[in-house]
Amino acid sequence: MTNDAPALAAKDEPVAVVDATTIKDDGKMPPLYAARNRVYPKRVQGLFRRLKWAALAVLLTIYYTVPWIRWDRGPGVPDQAVLVDMAHERAYFFFIEIWAQEVYYLTAVLIMAAIGLFLVTSIGGRIWCGYACPQTVWTDLYMWVERRIEGDRNARMKLDKGPLTGGKVAKKAAKHGVWLLIAVLTGGAWIFYFADAPTVVREIFTGQASTTVYFFIGLFTFTTYTLAGWAREQVCTYMCPWPRFQAAMMDENTFVVTYQDWRGEPRGRLHKDEDFAVRGDCVNCNQCVAVCPTGIDIRDGQQLECIGCGLCIDACNPVMEKIGRPPNLITLDSIANQERRAEKKPPVFRFLRPRTLIYSAVLLLVAAGMVGTLMTRPNIHANILRDRKPLYVPLSNGDIRNGYTVKVSNRRQTARTISMTLTGVPGATITVVGGAQKSTTTAFLQVELDSVSTYRVFVTAPKAGLDGESTDLVFRFVDTVTGKARTYETVFRGPEK
Ligand code: SF4
Ligand code: SF4
Repeated sequence: MTNDAPALAAKDEPVAVVDATTIKDDGKMPPLYAARNRVYPKRVQGLFRRLKWAALAVLLTIYYTVPWIRWDRGPGVPDQAVLVDMAHERAYFFFIEIWAQEVYYLTAVLIMAAIGLFLVTSIGGRIWCGYACPQTVWTDLYMWVERRIEGDRNARMKLDKGPLTGGKVAKKAAKHGVWLLIAVLTGGAWIFYFADAPTVVREIFTGQASTTVYFFIGLFTFTTYTLAGWAREQVCTYMCPWPRFQAAMMDENTFVVTYQDWRGEPRGRLHKDEDFAVRGDCVNCNQCVAVCPTGIDIRDGQQLECIGCGLCIDACNPVMEKIGRPPNLITLDSIANQERRAEKKPPVFRFLRPRTLIYSAVLLLVAAGMVGTLMTRPNIHANILRDRKPLYVPLSNGDIRNGYTVKVSNRRQTARTISMTLTGVPGATITVVGGAQKSTTTAFLQVELDSVSTYRVFVTAPKAGLDGESTDLVFRFVDTVTGKARTYETVFRGPEK
């Protein structure tokens, strides 16, 4: 074993398989949780490492900068491009504004995210886990800090085993200090998605921010520091449900990180002038294990702990180059192709399969539905609530009067005049309480910009024109500038015929 061999277990040590249902000789149940073996991933260079750095840079840049992008929506409206405004029950995403009543758009986004993840997983395996999951991204960042301060794998192992010296305390303090700083910045950035970023920064530093703001910064600081600094691969192995059911999205044509055992075995140390015709390509150097962020040995086959990052490929390729063997002993390939390659058959790539086609179709369908409804959604929205007590009021002249509460929302950034007319009840007239017009057939409502206005409305109609206890009544709202109209059906109540 080289100096870089894993700290977890020597390669040839037997692996203990614990069956939780097995009672030990002393009659005691075995522990349900194995003690944690600290993982010390070694620095590695290569294509997959570069891809991981690129993904990390892009994702962190998006996360930290998006709340600072401004988007002019006019006076009196937030100018933050992406904002979830809980206080005013709105969400802004550049030119899209979603009201609380339109929460179904959020549902559609979540469905699309889930189906998109299913699709990506069915094609490329655990790409999400290895490259884009926040746990992976922040753990990678934390490991980079750790490596810069404490050194690479061997230096870190030595430091942890060594006595408590001034140098060790200084290094540990520096590492945890930087980790905490990243955690605070992470928690702070999350808050910016829920409040105007420049304002909340000013409030935080002047002590004027609300308790809620400080609480959530503290909460996200704690979770980031704990999960990325301490828990790390334990989150993927024990806490995250995704590895448990992502296998349902995969099949033999899904790309996974895999060890080509048909090529690598029988493995063993390489002796001088050894003939590769009688042995496998794996020289048992354990470099693939040393770099693995979850501390597993990919040569043991597909494992729940493998996040598909490909760093073991980067570790193995230089070894193959050094011993003059073809690269990619550990590779990104489908299990079906591995079987074909083992039989010296050419690989076949099947991206179009029933599951990928179904996921794509559902994704396109939901996306098209969402875009369609977003583009055609009315910008007048009303809610009509009929009075239930009393159901109707007989007037002295014999007419019948019903009361309604009408709520009109204006989703535009300008105040509007909306006309309101009635159909269905002959001779019906409208009186808006507090309005200038009395008993009119068309009432004009002044609706403030980006708000919901509530009106108390009385509808009066001659008894002779009613169908009896219940007559269908339609409220029609028209934008007086654009001419766009919406109708809402309700009923007009009266006495029995
Ligand atoms: S698979 Fe490659 S990196 Fe891993 S032990 Fe074998 S030769 Fe070394
Ligand atoms: S086995 Fe390889 S692909 Fe899987 S987590 Fe470890 S380094 Fe990444």
